[in-house]
Amino acid sequence: MRKILVAGNWKMHGSKTMVSELLEGLLAGSSAEGNADMLVFPPFPFLSQTESILSGSHIRWGGQTLNPNAQGAHTGETSGNMLKDMGCHYVLVGHSERRSIYGESDEDVAQRFKAALDARLHPVLCVGETLQEREQGQTETVVARQLDAVIDSVGIEAFRKAIIAYEPVWAIGTGLTATPQQAQSVHAFIRDKLTSLNAIIGGQLRILYGGSVNGSNAAELFARKDIDGGLVGGASLTAEDFLAIYGAVA
Ligand code: PEP
Repeated sequence: MRKILVAGNWKMHGSKTMVSELLEGLLAGSSAEGNADMLVFPPFPFLSQTESILSGSHIRWGGQTLNPNAQGAHTGETSGNMLKDMGCHYVLVGHSERRSIYGESDEDVAQRFKAALDARLHPVLCVGETLQEREQGQTETVVARQLDAVIDSVGIEAFRKAIIAYEPVWAIGTGLTATPQQAQSVHAFIRDKLTSLNAIIGGQLRILYGGSVNGSNAAELFARKDIDGGLVGGASLTAEDFLAIYGAVA
C-alpha cells in the first residue's frame, strides 16, 4: 500500500514569523497516525528554523533544489550534503520553474537527481508538459523524455528512493487543475513505464499530482488509483489551506 503524501512547496515565500506560525499550525492539525504523510519545502534560509520546530515530529522537510556538485566554488549555491546537514530527507529536482526560468535541461535535472542520491536524500522528480505540448498531443512524449533522461543516467534501481511529481506546467499557479481523469491517465503512463523496467519499484513508487491542488479538489484527485498525493504550491502557505488538503485524504 502506498500512503498518501501531501507536500508543500513554499517557493520564494515566507518570513521567520510566517514559518513559525505555519509550522506550529501544521503540527497542531496533523499527526503521525493520520491518513497522509506530510512534507514541506521551505526556502533555504528557513531550513534551520524548520529543523528546530519539526525535529522529532512526524512532518518531514526538504530543499527546493540543489547544486549537482558536492562542494566547491559555486557562489550562491547549496549542496545536497548541506541539505542533509539541515535535517532534510527530501529535495525537489526539476521543478518546472527551475527548468523554465533557470534553464535546467533534462541532463541538468539528471545530474541533480544523482547528487541528491549521493547525499542520501530522496529526490522528488518533477515532470510535466506545457499547454502547447498538451494541445499538440505531446504529453506522454515529453514526460517520457524527462523520465528517460534520469533513468538513462542513474538506472531504474535509483527510483527505489525517489518520488515523482507529475505537474502539468499549465496548471501550476494558474488556478487551472487537470481533471482527475487527465491526471490519472498520465500517472498510469508513468507507473506503467517504470513497472515495465522493474515491477516492484513501479508498484511502490509514489506519484504526486501538482497543479493548483486545494481543499476542494484534493479528495477527488487523491481517490484515483495512481495518484498518491499532491505537491502543493499556493495552498501550502497557510496552515488552514494546507490542512484542508491533508484532511481531504480518506
Ligand atoms: C508547485 O509549485 O509545485 C505547484 C503545484 O504550485 P500550485 O499548487 O500553486 O499550482
